[in-house]
Amino acid sequence: MLRITGLVKEFGNRTVINGVDLDVMPGEVVVIIGPSGTGKSTMLRCVNGLEDINGGTIAFEGELVRAKSREIVNLRRRIGMIFQNFNLYPHLTALQNVMLAPMKVLKQPRKKVEEQSRELFRKVRLEHRCDAYPNQLSGGEQQRVAIARTLAMEPHLMLFDEPTSALDPETVGDVLRVMEDLASEGRTMLVVTHEIGFARHVGSRMIFMDGGKIIEDRPPKDMIADPANPRTKQFLSSIL
Ligand code: ADP
Ligand code: MG
Repeated sequence: MLRITGLVKEFGNRTVINGVDLDVMPGEVVVIIGPSGTGKSTMLRCVNGLEDINGGTIAFEGELVRAKSREIVNLRRRIGMIFQNFNLYPHLTALQNVMLAPMKVLKQPRKKVEEQSRELFRKVRLEHRCDAYPNQLSGGEQQRVAIARTLAMEPHLMLFDEPTSALDPETVGDVLRVMEDLASEGRTMLVVTHEIGFARHVGSRMIFMDGGKIIEDRPPKDMIADPANPRTKQFLSSIL
């Protein structure tokens, strides 16, 4: 589904991604961990064509991802991204937030979109909160609305960039449970998170990034129990 080869990304004269190779198969849940500033967010942004790249290639479903290409808008519709700060429209209800893109971008009829959106609220376990405005929702609820909004575009690949790190601790579990449901539906997911329990139970692979490189790429249980690289070991012990 995704093939990254020799990816290089520079900001000015700083190289922040320095030769990353990564293949993701359909249905895989790849968890990415690593210290702050090692290029995790930048890599997701490159995959989504939000950043121009300086070397290597990114192919998604066989098509080259190029930030400045004409096809990028269409390609990006098949890739959903969920951020730390959910960025819901404050003047729209939760339901209206989810309905907006299918109506405006996909031009689907309102009735069909509303039915589908209500179904998505059931999926993220928020069917009772459809009519609330974002500021009436907890962080965890807002993030689940953001997930529903992404799902409404029927993405083939979902990118999560620290989806729970801005949340109050008591709402983190609800978001992780929804992500676990998505994984068990067989969705392909790239998840930057330091939630090690999620990585262990849900991840098919775990990647440790440091200094713009992939240092280790293994089954989560193996990496957590017995990190091969001293930097992985040091990082894991700092977050556990
Ligand atoms: P991570 O997500 O692993 O914490 P990032 O991908 O956000 O790391 O950032 C990697 C490095 O690139 C950091 O040093 C960051 O300051 C730098 N960086 C990120 N975005 C930009 C940008 N738009 N312009 C300049 N430097 C950037
Ligand atoms: Mg980041």
